[in-house]
Amino acid sequence: MTSDAHSDNESLNLYEMAVAQWRSAAAEISLEPWIATILSQPKNEIMIHFPVRMDSGEYRLFKGYRVQHNNILGPYKGGIRFHPNVHIDEVKALATWMTFKCALIHLPFGGGKGGVQFDPKQCSRGEQMRLTRRFTHALGNNIGPEYDIPAPDVNTNAQTMVWMMDTYMNSTAAHNRDSMRGVVTGKTLEVGGSEGRDKATGQGTVYCIEEWAAQKKFDLSKATFITQGFGNAGSWASSLLARHGSRLLATCNSRHAIYSERGIDVEALRLHYDRTDDLSTFRAAQVIPLAEFWKIKADILIPAALERQLTLANVGDVEVKLVAEAANGPTTLAADEVLESRGIDVIPDILCNAGGVCVSYFEWVQNKKSEHWDLEEVDRKLETKIKNAFRRVSTWKSERNLSSRTAAFAVALERIRAAYLQREIFP
Ligand code: NAD
Repeated sequence: MTSDAHSDNESLNLYEMAVAQWRSAAAEISLEPWIATILSQPKNEIMIHFPVRMDSGEYRLFKGYRVQHNNILGPYKGGIRFHPNVHIDEVKALATWMTFKCALIHLPFGGGKGGVQFDPKQCSRGEQMRLTRRFTHALGNNIGPEYDIPAPDVNTNAQTMVWMMDTYMNSTAAHNRDSMRGVVTGKTLEVGGSEGRDKATGQGTVYCIEEWAAQKKFDLSKATFITQGFGNAGSWASSLLARHGSRLLATCNSRHAIYSERGIDVEALRLHYDRTDDLSTFRAAQVIPLAEFWKIKADILIPAALERQLTLANVGDVEVKLVAEAANGPTTLAADEVLESRGIDVIPDILCNAGGVCVSYFEWVQNKKSEHWDLEEVDRKLETKIKNAFRRVSTWKSERNLSSRTAAFAVALERIRAAYLQREIFP
């Protein structure tokens, strides 16, 4: 590909990027054009403006989205993000990836995603609670345990989900209330969450890395890695990979990057970060400029922050054997091509971070059956699901000589295609 074509790719918005990814796979499997037409836009794009009373007494209007991409395989499923840059194209892209992710992992779910445009760091806990409740109320019957099931994403967590669940249940007739618990997943254990949900995204990433290492005969106990983002996905992936003996050389958040040649004690860093919300004051590592993060030589890079972080501007600096995408959409199409041409392996996001939605599915099943599974059972089931999906992708990749990303989308598309060919469309 020419450098002009590379830079054209680089300017695509996030939704165009997601569409280009699945369309490459559609071409590989000669997908019926009518199915591609249906998948080319989300089924529903909901945009809501809702008021919240702030601590100052002032009333502010917030903008929230819920995009429901596709539900041929089951209820819409996907996270809710709180971030000042939340935008309709971003939410559409994230909802689209959820459709493919659920299909790839063989979950009976479709794809959805939502978000509210604001910076939670500028709001008190009370303001966040009122905003979450008001947004949930405004969504009304656009969500529901058999229709569309939100979960945590960037800047939302188990507490956010408990507020959503409580609001939704309180808007339901009393005799039906308890059956509504599964309206969201990623809840706390006490109100119906699942063991292992908190670490699930990081755990799924590490199951993928284990499978990659097994196929490559690569010894993880001697591996080094760097992680961009030290939130839910990044800190858990780092922690679980460190348990193999792998050494974390560098990590960063939106403000600071830190580095240690000998390796960072991940558990000590987690304790410090939980307490201070500040990487720069962790004494056992040195602060480096954020741009230097990408230049650290390691075996594995785990992007676990936001989308479009690995771009033409920095992909040339990256010196790793594997990129394990814990974040959604962290690699631009142009950067992806560079990784491919340099022979750097990629575990694509729809596979690498699917652990989160997988344990969300387990939570939903437990809620339906009023059961509580222990952690061993959750981990065992998760490992089977993730590693089986990894092997399906590897087989496609090697049999058809595809990139891992196109293979992953192709495997997912085959499942969606089968459902459409059997059901056709109404009427
Ligand atoms: P989080 O809010 O817990 O953490 C995000 C982290 O990224 C924070 O440490 C933040 O400081 C950092 N960050 C933000 N902007 C950055 C920047 N410009 N440079 C460096 N770091 C930056 O969010 P999370 O839930 O861990 O989500 C991270 C990624 O994983 C997102 O892409 C999300 O969609 C994806 N993901 C999350 C889940 C889940 O279950 N939480 C599941 C699947 C995928």
